[in-house]
Amino acid sequence: MPAPYVVALDPGHGGSPSSDPTVLWDPGVVAGRLVEKDITLDLGFRLKALLEKERVKVVMTRTTDRYLEISERWNLVHASKARLFVSLHVNAFDGDPSINGLTVFYPRAESQAFAQHLEAGLAAALQPFGVPDDGVAPKPELWVHSDIPTATVEPAYVSNAHEAGLLTRADFREAIASGLFQGLLQADPQIDATYQQIVRVEQARAARLQAERAAAAAAAARVRRWELGGLVAAVLLMLVIALRARRRSVHARRRSGRRGRRRPYAAREGHVRPTVRDLSEVKK
Ligand SMILES: [Zn+2]
Repeated sequence: MPAPYVVALDPGHGGSPSSDPTVLWDPGVVAGRLVEKDITLDLGFRLKALLEKERVKVVMTRTTDRYLEISERWNLVHASKARLFVSLHVNAFDGDPSINGLTVFYPRAESQAFAQHLEAGLAAALQPFGVPDDGVAPKPELWVHSDIPTATVEPAYVSNAHEAGLLTRADFREAIASGLFQGLLQADPQIDATYQQIVRVEQARAARLQAERAAAAAAAARVRRWELGGLVAAVLLMLVIALRARRRSVHARRRSGRRGRRRPYAAREGHVRPTVRDLSEVKK
């Protein structure tokens, strides 16, 4: 089986206040009911599901509401042997609620093309919702250790009323995941090539299994035919034996019947019964 293609996803922020004051927590931006850490985790799961259908191995920096340092996140990504890395966030702009649109940041020039693929995928998916495309921008302070194509995605603003409304909707979140998925497929054709390889191997394996099952079924049918043939032969043999025995007993009865009806000895031609006188003469 070909090795799966690995993608790392980082749902931004995370963690909730607890009774332990030493435990850190970071909700990200909060706008009414919208909390960034929850949106990013949901987007992560949605994108993970799409990628896993494509047979991609997805590694997430967190799958629960917990706090992680940036360095911890990067260590997880690095250890995962991921070939692409997407950090998920949503945007906010204090003081100007009219600011809106999607943006994709990249740490260095090596990741610019990757960021542009994600941006194009997102722009196509979010255009029907009226989310403008603000393009890509470098942000060198993010993911400074990254050595694989890396992007930080900000698909919409929670500080913008229209986009905040959209972010509460499942279909909009699904569109974000779908746009990122398309962007990832465009960013590296190896994702789909690996998928095709895996499917081919699986199909060959399934065909082999089916052929083995068919052969086993045919062999079982052959054995049943032999058993049936043997049974028929045995029945025929018993029938033949029974018929022969019956014929023999009929012959025997006929023969004994003929004997019973035999003519007297003397009456048979060519034989003369000796007289009693003659016998007395013989005795002398
Ligand atoms: Zn954020």
